[in-house]
Amino acid sequence: MSAGPAGPSESWSSKTMLHAWDHGRDALPAERALVLLSLAGHDALHWPLGERDATLLRVYGQTFGDRFEAHGPCSTCGEGIEMRLSASRYVAAARSAEQGTLQQGAWSVRLRPVTTQDVLRAVDGQSLVRACIVDVRFEGEHADPDVLPTEVLQAGAEHLAVLDPFSEVTIQTRCASCGELASLTLDVSSFVWTEVGRRARALASDVVQLASRFGWSEAEILDMSAARRELYLSLLGAR
Ligand SMILES: [Zn+2]
Repeated sequence: MSAGPAGPSESWSSKTMLHAWDHGRDALPAERALVLLSLAGHDALHWPLGERDATLLRVYGQTFGDRFEAHGPCSTCGEGIEMRLSASRYVAAARSAEQGTLQQGAWSVRLRPVTTQDVLRAVDGQSLVRACIVDVRFEGEHADPDVLPTEVLQAGAEHLAVLDPFSEVTIQTRCASCGELASLTLDVSSFVWTEVGRRARALASDVVQLASRFGWSEAEILDMSAARRELYLSLLGAR
């Protein structure tokens, strides 16, 4: 299991989701993932990407329910594919990231998994690989990472995905339109961010309706249970 340890708060409250949207809407995708996890009690800056994403999916499941839908185009015919998936099943299947050694001719490069900090600092694919180098040898002797040939760095980029399998979640399914086996890549952090943003906008709309009718503050409305908000909205005829 490669999800991070369970935090003190393993779901996002209504207030938290509006806060996340407010603080993350102008941020980079990697920063958004950190904002979301910090609001669930995790400091994930130095975690491998797979651990980060498995934890995001776990908190997503605790907040929105275990079932989620993934969408994407079929790689053969281009038709849209929709799949219903279980967050807990994916989290349970996530394998831990680990260091590994890439052998490329006389070169031997020890690499560690990519973290969010690496992604935020990297200016291109090669600098990302360089950030993850633990040790470089040429014919068994220590060598300077700065003299690595481009083709070894390119192989290093592919090797990083092998070290952290959950950093790229690929779902295999049969396309209903053409019958071919299709692969969907699930970008966990952008998927979770989209759902949180959608919920935040729906909450803002509820706040507007309840505040304009009853005069309650945003904080008072967000502090209510979802069931109580629904009750008042239904009395207003808004549900
Ligand atoms: Zn197809």
